[in-house]
Amino acid sequence: LSGIYQGFLAQAQARPEKPLFKLPGGAVLSYAEVLHTSRRIAAKLIGDGVVPGDRVAAQVEKSPEAIALYLATLQIGGVYLPLNTAYTGAEMDYFMSDAAPRVLVCDPTQAADHVRRGKDGIVVETLGTTGDGTLLAAEQEHAAIAETRPEDPGAILYTSGTTGRSKGAVLTNQNLASNCASLVKSWEFTAEDVLIHALPIFHIHGLFVAVNMTLAAGASMIWLPRFEVPAVLDAMEDPTAGATVLMGVPTFYTRLLGSDRFSEESCSGMRLFVSGSAPLLAADHEAFQSRTGHAILERYGMTETGMNTSNPYRGGPRRPGTVGHPLPGVEVRITDRESGQALPQGEVGIIEVRGANVFAGYWNMPEKTAEEFRADGFFITGDLGVIDEQGYLSIVGRDKDLVISGGFNIYPKEVEGLIDDQPGVAESAVIGVPHPDLGEGLVAVVVPAAEGAPDEAQILGALAGELARFKQPRAVRFVEALPRNVMGKVQKAELRKQYTDLFS
Ligand code: ATP
Ligand code: MG
Repeated sequence: LSGIYQGFLAQAQARPEKPLFKLPGGAVLSYAEVLHTSRRIAAKLIGDGVVPGDRVAAQVEKSPEAIALYLATLQIGGVYLPLNTAYTGAEMDYFMSDAAPRVLVCDPTQAADHVRRGKDGIVVETLGTTGDGTLLAAEQEHAAIAETRPEDPGAILYTSGTTGRSKGAVLTNQNLASNCASLVKSWEFTAEDVLIHALPIFHIHGLFVAVNMTLAAGASMIWLPRFEVPAVLDAMEDPTAGATVLMGVPTFYTRLLGSDRFSEESCSGMRLFVSGSAPLLAADHEAFQSRTGHAILERYGMTETGMNTSNPYRGGPRRPGTVGHPLPGVEVRITDRESGQALPQGEVGIIEVRGANVFAGYWNMPEKTAEEFRADGFFITGDLGVIDEQGYLSIVGRDKDLVISGGFNIYPKEVEGLIDDQPGVAESAVIGVPHPDLGEGLVAVVVPAAEGAPDEAQILGALAGELARFKQPRAVRFVEALPRNVMGKVQKAELRKQYTDLFS
């Protein structure tokens, strides 16, 4: 099993001139050019005292050099630690003291804020988006590759913090390489592919799924700083760019569908659209298929495990509302949330996974790590799901979002699905907030569609015929948009906070 860096190096040696990055405005960076940049960065990091096992933290804007930094870190046996560019002051202090990196690479505009990190032994380097920054100052290249074992950490990625404080997931070289190999095979990724990359690169989706697969296959990326409908359509519709694949979070697809310009024609060169990180609305899946003829391939993963399941690339339907089957080498089972016993097919419970993709543990959190693993090595994901007769997994929600009202379990997704199907509803989020009699009372937070919304009585009336009484919301609230983070995840904790006094 070859590591991510070794895979990249093999591609760079086999076809040095092949474009790795296609940049807005037409510039191209080849595999060989990225290899040289990464070797100069490696020289700089070694000069900073990085030795195998040291963390190299990066809070930088998206650029090809940021990927060269990731590669350089792997090359010298360091542990790459990317951070969301939105984190500021106290959050950065937490990550820096938790991870204790040898080097922090930050944007040139932030360097002054981080000078004081020197007293904690952290060397501060800068990297901008125009080839600027101290990180690129080395003139010599460092070409030697550190000897690492499959079980050595290659990266620490902090989880998105949807359910609480972000935890650092320690991912080994084997975790990264094995998951990448499974995906390349399952989605038939080849050197002919050109991926439209519009995701952030501090998260597993944009970094480990998108970039690792590209490097391993020797493919190319159209490198966009962020997701913007016109730029993505330009990339898709430009025959000379040769785009074949888009990987996105569900909001990418919602927004593409919102554009009149987006058509079957726009997709004529495309072979695959992937969605993940948050649930794709079944209605969007269907609208996308009828507009373009393409069935979006939805998959399921998390920071701690990489990708776990995927709808089929071929050999079976891609079923809306499901996340498909376990990837090769990944075992998935459903267990009872109270007893931990495995449940039969068709019953809802906690999703547990085991395989070479599953992380080594939470950084600095041995107790938390121990709590989240079963004795037989299965990782308790904290997501609730059910497997159907054809083996497709559906995610019902997060265990932490399960509502217990009057002693009954309510899976928000079931109620959300019925609300979303009503005319005049764009989408909804169903949450539980403190209720004097019921423990938790169910609240539906509804985003009206552009053409005008039903009112509370209409929504509740429509649900009355479809749901047991205990599953019917006690209140409906209308909002313009659901609170989402940059990965498109609905921030239910935020909503619960907002409506916490509704029934008191
Ligand atoms: P934290 O663990 O800090 O609370 P997080 O779980 O949102 O944050 P990530 O690791 O970025 O952090 O996200 C993984 C989660 O995203 C999964 O556990 C699952 O709940 C959700 N997810 C990923 N893909 C899908 C999908 N296709 N459908 C539904 N949910 C998904
Ligand atoms: Mg999580």
